Amino acid sequence: MKAYYIPGFLLIGFLFGGLRDLPEMEAFIKDDIPFLTAFYKERHQSPEISLKEEKTAGILADQLRAAGFEVTENFGGYGIVGILKNGKGPTILYRTDMDALPMVEKTGLPYASQQTTQYEGKEVGAMHSCGHDMHMTTWLGTARVMAKMKNRWKGTLMLIGQPAEEIGAGAKMMLEAGLYDKFGPPDYGIGLHCSPTIPSGKVGFGKGFTMANTESIDIKVFGQGAHGATPHMAIDPVVIASMMVMELQTIVSRSLNPTDAAVVTVGAINGGTRHNVIPSEVTLKLTVRTYTDEVQATVHKRIEEIAKGVAMAAGLPEDKLPEVIFPKDFTPANYNHPHLVDRLVKSATSVIGKDNVVEAAPMMVGEDFSRYGKTKHQVPTVLYWLGTVPQERIQSGNLPGLHSPYYFPEVANTIKTGVKVTSQSLIDLFNQKM
Ligand SMILES: [Zn+2]
Ligand SMILES: [Zn+2]
Repeated sequence: MKAYYIPGFLLIGFLFGGLRDLPEMEAFIKDDIPFLTAFYKERHQSPEISLKEEKTAGILADQLRAAGFEVTENFGGYGIVGILKNGKGPTILYRTDMDALPMVEKTGLPYASQQTTQYEGKEVGAMHSCGHDMHMTTWLGTARVMAKMKNRWKGTLMLIGQPAEEIGAGAKMMLEAGLYDKFGPPDYGIGLHCSPTIPSGKVGFGKGFTMANTESIDIKVFGQGAHGATPHMAIDPVVIASMMVMELQTIVSRSLNPTDAAVVTVGAINGGTRHNVIPSEVTLKLTVRTYTDEVQATVHKRIEEIAKGVAMAAGLPEDKLPEVIFPKDFTPANYNHPHLVDRLVKSATSVIGKDNVVEAAPMMVGEDFSRYGKTKHQVPTVLYWLGTVPQERIQSGNLPGLHSPYYFPEVANTIKTGVKVTSQSLIDLFNQKM
């Protein structure tokens, strides 16, 4: 609904509508916090890494069924789809991810994870250090509110439990399994992510591009190996690769419009075995982050030109020029639909107050939630930030980031805020309130 002119009675209707839902919802959430807190701690203590989320998915599916949802399991890996049909109205997708990371938890919490898992042939720790346990908890809490408050909205709620977010694969797996064909494309899609810098009790919104195209690019640099003491008999790929690393820094600083954002980071440089051997090959591993297709294309072009140009200048023949390997696939940039952000900000403000709804700056991290809005259906989507940090930790200035072995959210207040904001947003979207 596009309304440029809002009659007074509608506005009053919205204000009362917004407030009207609150006491009932507030009471239900308050009663549900002990259950959800226990659920959160269980999830935190039972992390399963990407593509191994079998038990987690089973538990979520059981919980959704108990709340009255129709649940499809093993949809794109261990993906689950929970549908709650409640009359004629829009279809809204709300996604949680389910996977943890292969790392040892160091929070020292009484409910810290003691789990281990097999990763790349080794036994390693497992931890929910990206807050996906909190995402699952607020998702389930919202599912329970929406089922309880069915008389307040009409439409179809589509809850997604997504596997393998950390490897950027899960959203693609579920969409390719036919998510929108089987269940219909939704009218809106929403999701949230824990923020390691926004205080618990608050939420953050960014408009437009908020997260980046995330690509891993390899450059194989060739040379001519020789004894370390006879450099004149070699074409040294270590030196060539070093020059490339420096030259790549000019892409962002010299080739792009200064108002366009991009990152070119060389995270690994591997080559050689001994002090006195000039190797014949060096590999560079890059992460490249951009927002738009145009900037991405320019960065790709410059990487290729620099790689070739530096190698040619070193005297390498045509058949020994470097190989730039672009990924077949990458996590696309997340775009928060501006109009939908406005609507969610209104809903959030109505339940937690203006001071607790903050503007969040865009970041160059990646999140495959973006894919739900990138199909031909052009579903408007928003991924918002859920504040998680206890006030005292904000004051201390010691703020471990996501994927840190020390990261953890404040539990009860974060759950309450996430469930309240998401439930009210869904109810307002279902009721087409502006
Ligand atoms: Zn993560
Ligand atoms: Zn995450």
